[in-house]
Parts: sequence; C-alpha cells; structure tokens
Amino acid sequence: MGEQAPARPGRYSPGLPRLVPGTYAAVVLKLPPFVYLAPASLEEALSLHADHEDESRVLAGGQSLIPLLALRLARPEYLVDLSRIGELEGISEEDGAVCIGAMTSELALEHSHLIAERLPLLPQALSFIGHPAIRSRGTLGGSLAHGDPAAELPAVALVLGAQLVAESRDRGRRTIAARDFFLGPFTTALQGDEILTEIRIPWQAPGTGSCFHEVARRLGDFAMVGVAAVARVEQGMIRSCRVALTGVADRAVLRTDGELGLTGESAGSFDAAARRLAEELNPPADLHGSAPYRRHLVRTLVPRVLERACQAAAAGAIS
Ligand SMILES: Cc1cc2nc3c(=O)[nH]c(=O)nc-3n(C[C@H](O)[C@H](O)[C@H](O)COP(=O)(O)OP(=O)(O)OC[C@H]3O[C@@H](n4cnc5c(N)ncnc54)[C@H](O)[C@@H]3O)c2cc1C
Repeated sequence: MGEQAPARPGRYSPGLPRLVPGTYAAVVLKLPPFVYLAPASLEEALSLHADHEDESRVLAGGQSLIPLLALRLARPEYLVDLSRIGELEGISEEDGAVCIGAMTSELALEHSHLIAERLPLLPQALSFIGHPAIRSRGTLGGSLAHGDPAAELPAVALVLGAQLVAESRDRGRRTIAARDFFLGPFTTALQGDEILTEIRIPWQAPGTGSCFHEVARRLGDFAMVGVAAVARVEQGMIRSCRVALTGVADRAVLRTDGELGLTGESAGSFDAAARRLAEELNPPADLHGSAPYRRHLVRTLVPRVLERACQAAAAGAIS
C-alpha cells in the first residue's frame, strides 16, 4: 500500500491511503468540496441536519445524490451520512402494517420473506430498479425522498397507501400519506430539516392481487412507463382497485376506484379504462420516447397489469 494522503481537515479522511499516484487528486476533482458528517444516532443526525438546514443534504445509499454532486447539480456544504445509524434499518410488522426503516436497502427488501408474504408487489417492482449492485446500496427512504418522476418506488408507495414518517429535531415526528408526499419532480413534502425515518405499508389483504410491470429501453434503465396495480375481486367482480403510474407526469400518478370507473365491473374489461387514462395524462417526451408512445404504453400496460392483479386476486393469492 502506498503513502498516506495529506490531511484535509473537515473534508476527507486523513487516513485515506493513496493507492497509486494521482488517484486521490482525481477524487478531489470529481466531487465538489463538502463537510462529511457521520452521526452514530438518529438524534445526532437530526441535530446536525437542523444546525445546517439550508446547506446540508442527507446521504443514504448515494446512488442518486453522488451522481448529482459529480454533475454539480447539487452543491451542499454538508453531507449527513445516515449509514451508521442502525435504528434506521430493518423490516418488522405492527398493527396490520409492515414497518420499514428508511435506510433499508432495496436488495434487503427484495429478499425479505416478510415482504414477499405481505407485500409481494414490492419485490416485483424492485427487480426493475437498476441492477443488483445499485439495489444493494440504494435505500427505500432514499428513493422516496429523491422523488424521481420515473422511479418505481413512489408508484408502489402510492398504490399500496404507504404512510411516511418524517422527523425533525425541533418539531418531532409527523406522518405523511404517500399521496400527499410527492409534490413535483424531485420535490417532496419533506421540510429542509426533516429526515424520512420509516415507511409503513398496510398488508395486502387476502382476496387482493397485485402486479407491477414496466417498459424500459434496456433492462435496468429507468422506465419509460411503469404501472402498479392492486385489485380486490369477489365472484368475478372488481370490488376495489388502484393503479399508479410512473414516467407519465412530473411525479408518480395514482388513480383509485371511482376515477378508474372499474368498481362493480367484471374483472377482464380494462381497455376502455386504460384509453380514458391515457387520454387524460399529458406524458413527457424525451430522447427515450415521445408523448404519443408513452400514451400507447399506458393503453397497453394498464390492462395487462390489471388483468394479472385480478387473476392473482381470484386465485386467492395476494400476488
Ligand atoms: C446506474 C443507476 C441506475 C438506476 N436505476 C434506477 C431505476 O431504474 N429506478 C429507480 O427508481 N432508481 C434507479 N436508480 C436510483 C437508485 O434506486 C437510488 O438508490 C435511489 O433513487 C436513491 O436512493 P439512495 O438511498 O441511493 O439515496 P441517495 O442517493 O443517498 O439520496 C437521494 C436523495 O434523497 C435524500 N435522502 C435520502 N435518504 C433520505 C432520508 N432518509 N430522509 C431525507 N432525505 C433523504 C438525499 O438527501 C438526496 O437528496 C439508479 C441509480 C443508478 C446509479
């Protein structure tokens, strides 16, 4: 191993080894300077974040934030790293809901038996996010707090009726329903001094089926359009149903029973509802797909996903 890099107090670990000449200098050039803070408890993290409210960002898995720093799209003076706070990780159940610590990795969720049993929609959607290496670092809280309009997990949180717990040093805890959380592109209801600490998702009830599917240019890319659906079916009739879409607006979009006009309909006739939904949306156009093509994907994916959700419900399984 080579010599020790020179100490840069407050910015870089003075103990960072320099493996080959020049490596350390490349790191300095890549990211803008920031003060790295590594609290060991939630209390300490809330305090540090509140002390530097306007200049600080929370660092979770870094899979979105670090690229933003590298591209100079974010220039926080302080990064408050949550990765040492064990109390923010974990999956448990309480009062008919699965409680997930915000720092729980996407990969841990994908492989959890409890999630597979209670919320089978979640692993289905997670498998479309990037690649396993990204999911091993990326967190549920990070994805929701980031609020990317093309991300899968905001749509899943909406369709499953998740409750998001935010905490701040000065005002304590509050719970925000997923449908009030996503306000616009990369904009959420979190205040500058708040940290998302827990996500509570009600179990999918027996007789309920769910499905997630998306179309992307390549496996692992962000979706052009993604659709999540949850349906409850009794004797071949839809009793309730919810659909959430990603990639079609400035944030994930939710449509429920009355808005879809499917309640009381037979489980199988979804084309008209999908056409109505495609017409009322105003999807973005970019290098990956035009607005008409995204509408076409809505018309194609919504019936397919609803049909699979209803089949799962009718089969008595929950996915
Ligand atoms: C190559 C690549 C492909 C990807 N593909 C996809 C994809 O297909 N679909 C997809 O959805 N995502 C994709 N991602 C993003 C990935 O899922 C990220 O992990 C996720 O979006 C952000 O989670 P994170 O834990 O890495 O958060 P970070 O990057 O650490 O943080 C993201 C933002 O959220 C804030 N934040 C994080 N945690 C909290 C918290 N607990 N409280 C308050 N604020 C918080 C941060 O301050 C920051 O502003 C991809 C990433 C890469 C690098």
